[in-house]
Amino acid sequence: MLDACYISSAVEAAVDLANTWRPIKGEDALETVEQLQDFFADHPPAGPGEPSSSATDRGTGPSRRLTRADLTEVRALRETVRGVLERASTDAVAAAALINDGLRRSRATPVLRHDHDRWWTEVTADTDRCAAHLAATTLSALACVIATLGPTRLGVCAGPQCRATYVDLSRNGSKQYCTRTCAHRASVAAYRSRHSNS
Ligand SMILES: [Zn+2]
Repeated sequence: MLDACYISSAVEAAVDLANTWRPIKGEDALETVEQLQDFFADHPPAGPGEPSSSATDRGTGPSRRLTRADLTEVRALRETVRGVLERASTDAVAAAALINDGLRRSRATPVLRHDHDRWWTEVTADTDRCAAHLAATTLSALACVIATLGPTRLGVCAGPQCRATYVDLSRNGSKQYCTRTCAHRASVAAYRSRHSNS
């Protein structure tokens, strides 16, 4: 079972975090504390298939007010996560160094959890900083994808106007575009260029 060691929601959180920055358009969806609040609302820390009962323990629960300091830390983490996603397929050693450094700085700690008759392992952070928890979960999930599926599963969309990042968890691992929309746009462009050259 490939999904035994990572939680796909953590992989998704990593990709979504990296993609809050759109380099081509120069758009940043993580500029305010409110936007950070929304990001955590969309990506709550959770076990496989179950909402977490202990979000407050992990620095992201409703009782915890996010601050500008949290925003700064999460934005710094975004640099790291984006660096991992951009580099893994071409320079896996550099990506691994970013992951290992990030895990060390977030004081990432593996824990064994039990809930709803299921056991699972999770990597969390030994601190109350929400950015550290996000670093521990996202970076350990990316580490697990690299270790189980290989570094080429992390990538940047081949769409010339996109550069969004993705993680390919599919069986055949042939993903090149972040979304179907980008893939479709590229195939239309390729068709048009063939047509105009003939
Ligand atoms: Zn794309």
